[in-house]
Amino acid sequence: MRVYNFSPGPSALPLAVLEKAASEMTDVNGTGQSVMEMSHRSKDYKPIIEKTEALLRELMGIPSNYKVLFLQGGASLQFSMVPLNLAASEPGLPKKKAVYIDTGIWAKKAADEAAKYAEVSIPASSKDKAYTYIPAAPAPEAGTAYYHITFNNTIVGTKWASIPDTGAVPLVSDISSCILSEPLDVSRFGILYAGAQKNLGPAGTTVVIIREDLIGHAPSLTPALLRYDIHAGEGSMYNTPPCYGIYIIGLVLEWLKNLGGVPAIEQKNREKAKLFYAYLESSKSFLSPVEKPFRSLMNIPFVSRETDPDRRKDIEARFVREAATAGLVNLAGHRLVGGMRASIYNAMPIEGVKALIAFMERFA
Ligand SMILES: *Cc1c(COP(=O)(O)O)cnc(C)c1O
Repeated sequence: MRVYNFSPGPSALPLAVLEKAASEMTDVNGTGQSVMEMSHRSKDYKPIIEKTEALLRELMGIPSNYKVLFLQGGASLQFSMVPLNLAASEPGLPKKKAVYIDTGIWAKKAADEAAKYAEVSIPASSKDKAYTYIPAAPAPEAGTAYYHITFNNTIVGTKWASIPDTGAVPLVSDISSCILSEPLDVSRFGILYAGAQKNLGPAGTTVVIIREDLIGHAPSLTPALLRYDIHAGEGSMYNTPPCYGIYIIGLVLEWLKNLGGVPAIEQKNREKAKLFYAYLESSKSFLSPVEKPFRSLMNIPFVSRETDPDRRKDIEARFVREAATAGLVNLAGHRLVGGMRASIYNAMPIEGVKALIAFMERFA
C-alpha cells in the first residue's frame, strides 16, 4: 500500500511517473536498454535530456537568454558555485560584494559558504523571531555582484510574498522547495537553482537557470566542475550528467504539463495549503508558528498548543509515531526546530491533506 508521504526531501513523486519509469525500466523508447545503461552522448539519450530541458523552459517560461544546466552536488554546491563564479577574484585582488538575506538555516548556510569567496553582507534577518517571517529587503549598494534570497524556506515554512527589487544587481535565488509550485517571473532573476529532490525528481540532480551575461566570470583557479561557463559550453555534458535523474525530471514535467502546467498546479497547491492553514487556525490543539503573509505553500510546520515544554515534546513525538501507523509518514519537524511539518509538494494530492486533517482531528 502507498502511504501519504509528507517528507521534506527526498519527497513523494507522482505515482503515474513511478509507474511509467517502472514500465520503461529495462527498455526505454524501444532501445532495448535502461536509461541507466546508455551513454550520455548517445543518440538514444540525447532526446531525453533535450525533452527535459524543453519542458522546463516551456513550463517556467524561461527566456532564451538563460541557460539551463543539469548539475550534481545538490543545492548545497550552488552555495559555493554562485559566489565562486560571480564574486570571487583572482588572488591578490579584493573580493566582490554579495548580499544575503538571512531567512533561515539554508539561507545562513549559503551566506557562510559565500563568505569564503565574497565580501558578504547580511542587511536583513528574521532570526530575531525564529525565522517566522520574511524581513524587508534593503536595496543593494551599487557595485554589488549579486543579491541572494531563499525564496521558500523549507525548514521554517516561510516564503517571500513578492520578489524584491534589486535594480541592476542580479538577484539569485534558491528555489529548491518551491520550483514549479506557482508561476515565477524568471526574468526578474540572474540565477535560480534547485536541488531536484523536493519538487522535481530524485536526489542527485540540481537544476541551474542562469542568465547568459552572468556566465564566464570565474577566477582562473576555479575547478572546472564548479564553473558555469564550462557546464554551459558543454550542454551539461562536460562530464557524465545525472542521466537517470534528468530522465525522471522529464517524466515529472510531462505529468505537470498534462495537468495543465504551472497555473493548474498552483491552484491545487493553494487549495491544499488553504485547507490545512484554515484547519490549523480553527484547531484547539495545533497552531502554525509562521506569520500569515509569509506562509509557504509547500512546507507547513505546526506545533502542539500545549504550553508545558516537556508535555509538548511528548505529544509531538506521539503524533508523529501514530500518524505513521495511520499511513501518514515523515511528519516530524526538522531536527533543528522540532514540532511537526507537512511538506505538500506538487505530487501530494488533496486527499493526502484531507487524510492528515482527519487524523489530526482524531488525535486532538
Ligand atoms: C533541501 C534544501 C537545500 C539542500 O539541498 P541539497 O540538495 O541537499 O544540497 C538547500 N536549500 C533549500 C531551500 C532546501 O530546501
